[in-house]
Amino acid sequence: MKRRDFLKLSAATAGVTLIPAYTVQAQEEQLSPDDPQAKALAYVEVSETEGQQCRNCIHAKGDLEAEWVGCNLFPGKQVKAEGWCKVWAARG
Ligand code: SF4
Repeated sequence: MKRRDFLKLSAATAGVTLIPAYTVQAQEEQLSPDDPQAKALAYVEVSETEGQQCRNCIHAKGDLEAEWVGCNLFPGKQVKAEGWCKVWAARG
């Protein structure tokens, strides 16, 4: 493989790996406390339980310093990092 072809392939590969990650993040909607599943788990956007927030829950994922984080219980949605629900569990 020529150096020029290698550089073209590298650039194409980098685009393929970065664009889908950005797209997935952009498509995640913010979970509403009015969502039926959120209501079932008593989800709130501001925790009233000291020391327990979504950002330090074992089910949270992604950038835990962000305002909104991913949650394994709500695939495709983001929860408020300061939020809480009744299945909160401490991160190991
Ligand atoms: S499971 Fe954890 S991260 Fe998900 S909404 Fe409940 S408290 Fe927040």
